[in-house]
Amino acid sequence: MSVAENFQAIRDELGDKIILVAVTKNHGVDLMREAIDAGATDIGENRVQEAAEKFQTLDRKVTRHLIGHLQTNKAKAAVKLFDLIQSVDSQHLAAALDKAAASIGKVQDVLIQVNAAREPQKSGVMLEDLDGLIKFVDAAKNLRLRGLMMIAPNLEDVNECRPFFKQMRELFDGLKTNREAFDFLSMGMTHDYKIAVEEGANVVRVGTAIFGERSYR
Ligand SMILES: *Cc1c(COP(=O)(O)O)cnc(C)c1O
Repeated sequence: MSVAENFQAIRDELGDKIILVAVTKNHGVDLMREAIDAGATDIGENRVQEAAEKFQTLDRKVTRHLIGHLQTNKAKAAVKLFDLIQSVDSQHLAAALDKAAASIGKVQDVLIQVNAAREPQKSGVMLEDLDGLIKFVDAAKNLRLRGLMMIAPNLEDVNECRPFFKQMRELFDGLKTNREAFDFLSMGMTHDYKIAVEEGANVVRVGTAIFGERSYR
């Protein structure tokens, strides 16, 4: 199946209430363009440098998501490039993004990435530090908190991810009741997006199922 067919099949399956972020990391601009031509409105990249090179060639307006871990020294480049930074996971990074956004007169939309399964090799704020980080982001004048993001553990039985999705959904709903523009619960990738959606995700980030396997250079 072509990129367009893959994209369309998932788009149809998700319906119109769920944002499908087409994750183009490690793929060329040609495939990114194929997805956009097929109707992709949201593109996800995980590295600033790679995204900068690829976005430069785009003419059509798409919403640009940073989904990978961000180092503070790239904060300035990131606020210039991305509409939504999904991977805020520390006060240190939030402070750098706030400053960078202020310097270009932007209010940067962000999600807080939560390490729900407490995986040491993954980024994301631990649950016990979430409240503190939310308070910090709320106080940052040039950041606007739009929701939460989570990467589920890569378990053989994908159903075992369900409790993590559920937990995030509950957290999200609890926070949403007294917040404005707190709209996005980003969870689910190729192997688990169906379950994530069943558990309440309204943003999914899909690469492989649209573009095929990535070859890492
Ligand atoms: C690569 C990546 C994805 C997409 O992964 P697939 O399994 O190819 O769908 C989603 N989210 C994040 C944070 C990623 O880094």
